[in-house]
Amino acid sequence: MKIHEYQAKELLRRFGVPTPIGHQATSVDEAVAGAEKLGQLPVVVKAQIHAGGRGKGGGVKVVKTIDEVRQSADAMLGMMLKTHQTGPEGQKVRRLLVEQGVAIRQELYAGLVLDRASKRVVVMASSEGGMDIEEVAAATPEKIHRVTVNPTVGLLPYQIRQLWFAMGLDTSLVRKVTQLFLGLYRAFIETDASIVEINPLIITDSGDLFALDAKMNFDSNALYRQKTVLEYRDLDEEDEKEIEASKYDLSYISLEGNIGCMVNGAGLAMATMDIIKHVGGAPANFLDVGGGANEEKVQAAFEIILRDPAVKAVFVNIFGGIMKCDVIAAGVIGAARKLDLKLPVVVRLAGTNVELGKKMLEDSGLSLTSANDMLDGAKKVVELAAARK
Ligand code: GDP
Ligand code: MN
Repeated sequence: MKIHEYQAKELLRRFGVPTPIGHQATSVDEAVAGAEKLGQLPVVVKAQIHAGGRGKGGGVKVVKTIDEVRQSADAMLGMMLKTHQTGPEGQKVRRLLVEQGVAIRQELYAGLVLDRASKRVVVMASSEGGMDIEEVAAATPEKIHRVTVNPTVGLLPYQIRQLWFAMGLDTSLVRKVTQLFLGLYRAFIETDASIVEINPLIITDSGDLFALDAKMNFDSNALYRQKTVLEYRDLDEEDEKEIEASKYDLSYISLEGNIGCMVNGAGLAMATMDIIKHVGGAPANFLDVGGGANEEKVQAAFEIILRDPAVKAVFVNIFGGIMKCDVIAAGVIGAARKLDLKLPVVVRLAGTNVELGKKMLEDSGLSLTSANDMLDGAKKVVELAAARK
C-alpha cells in the first residue's frame, strides 16, 4: 500500500525524523491559509499523488508571494499530473502540501528496502540526491553506498557513519544524521514498510538535515496489525477495480492489455499471462480467485473483469483442485447473465468435476469457445480479441 508524502512525513516525524513544517490543503483557500499559517516565504506548493517525479511534471513549485501560492494551487488542483511514474493519462491532483521553503546546500538520497537476496534490510545513501536514483544506479553505481542490517541488533550507528563518510560529508553533522537514519530504520521496521525513500534528504544552508521528500510503501499483508497506516489509505489514488477485488479478497492487478484473465492459483495466473504474451497478445489483468472461492466470489471476479472497458475477450483458465470446475462454471454463468455478456469467452477447464462444469457451460446458452489446453486457449482468445478491434 502507498501513502502520500504529507502522510509519510507526519509518520516519520513521530520517529524523530526532521521534515519541513507543512499543511495539507484540498482547496485554493486552504492552501493560502496554510501558507499564511507558516508565516514565512518562500513556501513550496506540492501536489500530493501516489507517484514520484512530480517536480519535473509541474507538481512542485517554490513560490515567493501569497498571490503565487494562490496561482499555483489553482493550477495544480484538479490537474492531471503526468510523471514517469503515473502512466500516460496522468493522475488527478486532489490534495496539496504547502510547506516552508528551505535553502538547500546539498541534496542527498536515502533509501531503505528489503533485499530479498540477503533477506535483510538494506540502507542506501548517495550524494547524488534530487534526481532519479535509477539513473544514478545505471550511470554511476559506485555513488550509491549500502549497508546491510543484521535484524537481531538493528541498524547500528557505525554503519550510518560508514555511509556518511563514504559520501565524503561534513563530520560535524554525524550526530544529526545518526538520529535521522535511526529514525528511518525504526519507522521502516515498526510500520511494516516495504520501502522508505527520502529523495532528496537535504543539508540546509544553516547545517540542518531535513527529509524534503518522503515516500513510504507498506506490506499489504501486515496491514491487519498496522491500524494507523491503514487510516492513511486513500482510495481515490487506487484502481477502482482493485478496490472492488480487495473487498472479495481476490488477488487482482490491472494491466494494460485487452484480454481478461480468470484464473485460479498465482502460479497458473502467471503462466497464463506468459502464454498470452507468447502468442502475441496482452493480458488486461492478473487475477487469482484463490483455492477456496465460492460461486459469489467467482461471479464478483468475472464482473470486475467485464467492467474493464479495455477487455475485448476473456480467457477462463481453471485447474480444479480444491476449487471445483462446476463452481467456476456457475460463477461465470451468473455473471454473464447479470451483465448481459457480449464478449467472446474462451474456457479451458481441467480437474475436479470438469465434466459437470463443461456441461453446465454448454447448457447455459452462452456463446463460449472451449479450449483443449492452455496454448490452444491462448491462441483462440488472442485471435478473438484481435478480431474485435
Ligand atoms: P518529486 O519530484 O516528486 O520527487 O518531488 P520532491 O519533493 O523531491 O521535489 C522535487 C524538487 O523540488 C527537489 O529535489 C528540490 O530541488 C525542489 N524543492 C522541494 N522543496 C523545496 C524547498 O523547500 N526549497 C527549494 N529551494 N527547493 C525545493
Ligand atoms: Mn523526490
